Amino acid sequence: MALWDIAGKLYGASIHEMLGGGGQGRMKLPCYASTYHGDENGGLTRPEDYGDFALACRDRFGYPAFKIHGWVGGPISREVDAVLAIRRAVGDSMALMLDPAGAFRTFDDVLRVGRACDEANYFWYEDAFRGGGLSQSAHSKLREFIKTPLLMGEHIRGLEPKADLITARATDYVRANSYTDGGITGVMKLAALAEANGLDVELHGGSLAHRHCMASMRNSNWYELGLVHPLVNANKPPIYGDPKWIDLLESVDSKGCLDVPTGAGLGVPLDWDWISAHRTGEVVYASG
Ligand SMILES: [Mg+2]
Repeated sequence: MALWDIAGKLYGASIHEMLGGGGQGRMKLPCYASTYHGDENGGLTRPEDYGDFALACRDRFGYPAFKIHGWVGGPISREVDAVLAIRRAVGDSMALMLDPAGAFRTFDDVLRVGRACDEANYFWYEDAFRGGGLSQSAHSKLREFIKTPLLMGEHIRGLEPKADLITARATDYVRANSYTDGGITGVMKLAALAEANGLDVELHGGSLAHRHCMASMRNSNWYELGLVHPLVNANKPPIYGDPKWIDLLESVDSKGCLDVPTGAGLGVPLDWDWISAHRTGEVVYASG
């Protein structure tokens, strides 16, 4: 990422320009509000809390999509109820996704929640299996039982292992992350791999780098904006000055979309006054 940023500054071009993207329609990135895990103290505690929060994200900020990280260790019936309650709350007005993030204990739990996702027409069902979410055979078997598209691969690194996931028919969307899949170059390789297989790439988490990557891809649907919660806000340091660049709930425009920077390199200067005033330590990387 740093090398792409330096190259962009050298050539006076933003990263999405160097990647050949940023064409008409891709300078606004549609976002899903991606929640924290459920809690037990009145924030995201009941299924209706998720439904209310989805509505607030839509009505206050314009979000077109909403992804829940549910509870860890709670009754599976509450998870099923949340999947259905959110759809009841928002009707057909939002795309919905579910990411248990490996919280479910048994195949039966995975299946029961997956069937609720089918009933409520979820956009994807992500990393449901306990144990790392690495099994190709478990996911390809799950695909025989439910119709909601699967998204897995967040915990599997790099180009070749993800090619194997696709070949094994273990996932319907391809997860990519510039922090763990070989930087911006690695993410763009995954985009091409997915495209060649008729699949879409969904980027894991947000960053300026991911805004540039997504602006350069034809085959990507949603930007992950998170994590968000009805009682938690301003949970990221304001290192860029303007909050529109740091992925807060209110960083989106009235249609729930984020902008792509147009400056050179990553395209947004760091606010060194703020960073210096909040410095707690320093590490110097030096060669030679
Ligand atoms: Mg996830």
